[in-house]
Amino acid sequence: GAASPAFAQQSAKAVAGAVRIGSNECWTGPLPAGAQAAMKIVSEGNRYEPDDEHAKLFAAVSEVEGVPVERILAWPGSSDPLARVPVTFASPTRGIVTADPTYESIWRTGDYIGAKVTKVPLTADYRHDVKAMLAADPNAGLYYICSPNNPTGTITPIADIEWLAVNKPKDAVLLIDEAYIHWSETPRAAKLAVERDDVLVMRTFSKLFGMAGMRLGLTFAAPSLHEKMMRYDGGQVTNMLPMTAVACGTASVPLASEIKARADEMIAARDYATAHVEKRGLKVIPGSHANMFMVEWKDKTPKQMMAAFLDQGVQIGRGWSAYPQASRITVGSMEEMQKFCLALDKILMA
Ligand code: PLP
Repeated sequence: GAASPAFAQQSAKAVAGAVRIGSNECWTGPLPAGAQAAMKIVSEGNRYEPDDEHAKLFAAVSEVEGVPVERILAWPGSSDPLARVPVTFASPTRGIVTADPTYESIWRTGDYIGAKVTKVPLTADYRHDVKAMLAADPNAGLYYICSPNNPTGTITPIADIEWLAVNKPKDAVLLIDEAYIHWSETPRAAKLAVERDDVLVMRTFSKLFGMAGMRLGLTFAAPSLHEKMMRYDGGQVTNMLPMTAVACGTASVPLASEIKARADEMIAARDYATAHVEKRGLKVIPGSHANMFMVEWKDKTPKQMMAAFLDQGVQIGRGWSAYPQASRITVGSMEEMQKFCLALDKILMA
């Protein structure tokens, strides 16, 4: 079933003055050139699409990712396509296979449409176990890989992803959710969505690009897959997106050095925090390539630790039922991670 109530607590809502490291948002806003582009287009908000805004976004993305424009679609974040994919490619007779733990959106939609959802534990080194995933349901309609994975931040090697693409049933779809790819140097799965007509790659601007509240996401896939996902929309992509988000994304995508600088800064903050946690004798799940990491508490539950941190003015993330003793921590700024470490010390001394 879907996430049990004990693990479903949301931490996205603001608590006045608190450090917000619970929801895997970016600690800071859009890249400045993106914010400027968004503000500039506000005055043309009377138009559904002032100029060829979608085309400009697709051209910018195509240039950076090497994906032809006819294989790119844009969405209001990735939650919308994440819900469409199971509805489109799974059914009561074609199941869904995911890792466990992983981002649960696919489970919820799978349950809703009555598809069998099979959850396969990550390997001992926190990769998706692609062979076990195929063996668990060899006739599934949809296989979901989240890499880097939420909540562990760990990646699944491109060779494993390719193995599943080649060995899954021909008419099944492989979805690779790369929401957190910008903190990783690992090879992108985009080329699979270019070379193959049965692979979908998903991106979002909600994470590194600092646009969670602006809503923009992308899918890379064959036009035939995209048409199926759009079959309730008359195949139109226009009129769905806020032009502020499209303009912001278009201006942000080419900014390679700003993107890398932001990622590097946050990786330094992550390394600082994880080293501190380990110094206190707690286990950090190793190998995060994202703006998050998991901490295993010795004798406390994620719910108890969430409350203890909140008392210290820090909103940490929730737990996942697969790892009942661990909490997910989002990486914020260096200053925020220093506050997290101070709060941890106070909690451990109490
Ligand atoms: N995919 C993953 C792996 C996520 O962690 C999230 C959000 O946390 C999403 C997709 C959806 O985010 P959005 O709809 O903002 O793109």
